[in-house]
Amino acid sequence: MTDVILNDGVTPEAQTQAVRDLLATTPDKQLFINGEFRAPRSGQYLETHDPATGKVIARIANASEADVNDAVSCAQAALKGPWSKITPMERAGILNKVADLIEANIDELCELEILDQGKPWYVARWAEIPAAANQFRYFAGQAMNIEGQILNTSINYQPEGRDVQAWTVREPVGVVAAITPWNSPLVLTAMKLAPALAAGCTVVHKPAELTSLSALRLAELIHQAGVPEGVMNVITGEGAKTGSCLANHMGVSKVAFTGSTSTGRAIVDASKSNLKRVTLELGGKSPAIVLPDANLDLAIPGIANGIFFNSGQVCVANSRTYIHRSIFDQVLEGIAGYGAGLQLGHGLNRETQMGPVVSVDQAEKIESYIKTAKNEGATIVTGGQRLGSNGTFIQPTVVTGTQLNSAIHCEEVFGPVIVAEPYDDINDAIEWSNNSEFGLASSIWTQDFTHAQRLSRQIQAGTVWINSHSMFDASMPIGGIKQSGYGRDSGKLALDNYLDWKTICAVV
Ligand code: NAD
Repeated sequence: MTDVILNDGVTPEAQTQAVRDLLATTPDKQLFINGEFRAPRSGQYLETHDPATGKVIARIANASEADVNDAVSCAQAALKGPWSKITPMERAGILNKVADLIEANIDELCELEILDQGKPWYVARWAEIPAAANQFRYFAGQAMNIEGQILNTSINYQPEGRDVQAWTVREPVGVVAAITPWNSPLVLTAMKLAPALAAGCTVVHKPAELTSLSALRLAELIHQAGVPEGVMNVITGEGAKTGSCLANHMGVSKVAFTGSTSTGRAIVDASKSNLKRVTLELGGKSPAIVLPDANLDLAIPGIANGIFFNSGQVCVANSRTYIHRSIFDQVLEGIAGYGAGLQLGHGLNRETQMGPVVSVDQAEKIESYIKTAKNEGATIVTGGQRLGSNGTFIQPTVVTGTQLNSAIHCEEVFGPVIVAEPYDDINDAIEWSNNSEFGLASSIWTQDFTHAQRLSRQIQAGTVWINSHSMFDASMPIGGIKQSGYGRDSGKLALDNYLDWKTICAVV
């Protein structure tokens, strides 16, 4: 088993000067309001840590109600400014420029994300930061495709000799509060900001308090790309304080939220203040079903990667797998072997395949799920231990022999932990898959495509992958059903979240 921690307690050298400077100075990071960085009125800051070492890397502003008011007022004012006058093509040009700037600064953004969140270099550099740029490119195109309709009316009471013409136009919903989590900070932010800006909205973004650094840098790049002052604002701080204040704010027209199901409920409550629109991308407990005819050369690494990528801190991670009994031992051994062979370490080290989890609290939560499962009689096939000097590394863990109603089987662990159970009848596997409060994602592994298509219609989930898991594209809507939320990010549908319809009816 590979449980070697590379550079335990040591930060490998950053490649970019900006991140070397950050590490040398441990700066106070300010709020980004009206096109400039400002100290918080509260004067309060929160420490942000490198989860791999536990060291403080910066302090972020803990925004107060007064700071939130400032940001929302600026966003409201900006709705009436030059941003409302520019053409769709100019807006598309700006969004493409944002993508260019993300790409031009990709190494710095990757290093910020690695230090703040703990992800390995390859996750940031080859998956998430390019995907963030792609969101801006995709929605640059969509900005030029916002169209209303000419209506075919049957009104017959217009004045004699006159006609009626009616049509619809799309208008930005107004000020958007984007509230985002810590697991994939930049790309999940881009999934909100790109469609919101494409629609012509203005934004106040509240990133997760554990991982705000890349959001502050992105706001600067968005400003540099030509977005006018006040259109893009970032307020950092605690969820229950800064986030709640923003979600309740009467000047906010829409909350675009990604995070846990429990916070999603708080957002819905907050939306009652002015009946603001809400979209929710929440938690999951996504199953992977492996049929007896599956190509195991695809299925084993696909499922292992689907849970161990980003240390399992992925909303759609396949944290459950149901494997046909005839191949169960082989697949279980394969996934366990893949996990046990992963090199754990600091994300700045290019050889690292899996980093720490985001915080000590998160590591303790994951460990407690594993301990409870063990006490209930489950078998830990591999992993199960916390490692490293500050205990934020969790070994890739495979568990079997769990009860279908146990916590580890039903709740979102949000770590590198998969439960694997055998099935005999595919109807059982489907029933177990659907027996969940969540409905975010799933995958089916088989070489019989017709069968897979049929099964895909029986699974209760926002996304069904066939012979893959966790495959994303800016064009593909992603989101959940049941308590995984409502609304979709990515794809053309996402633009609708940020647009209202206006009907215009004229006697001519
Ligand atoms: P979280 O709900 O704790 O926090 C998310 C954001 O909400 C943070 O910015 C936080 O500060 C803020 N917040 C917390 N309390 C708030 C309140 N009362 N009012 C307003 N804002 C508040 O989630 P997390 O722990 O940061 O992220 C992990 C969760 O996110 C997991 O459940 C994961 O499944 C989910 N997630 C879902 C998706 C998806 O697309 N469905 C994607 C990524 C993560």
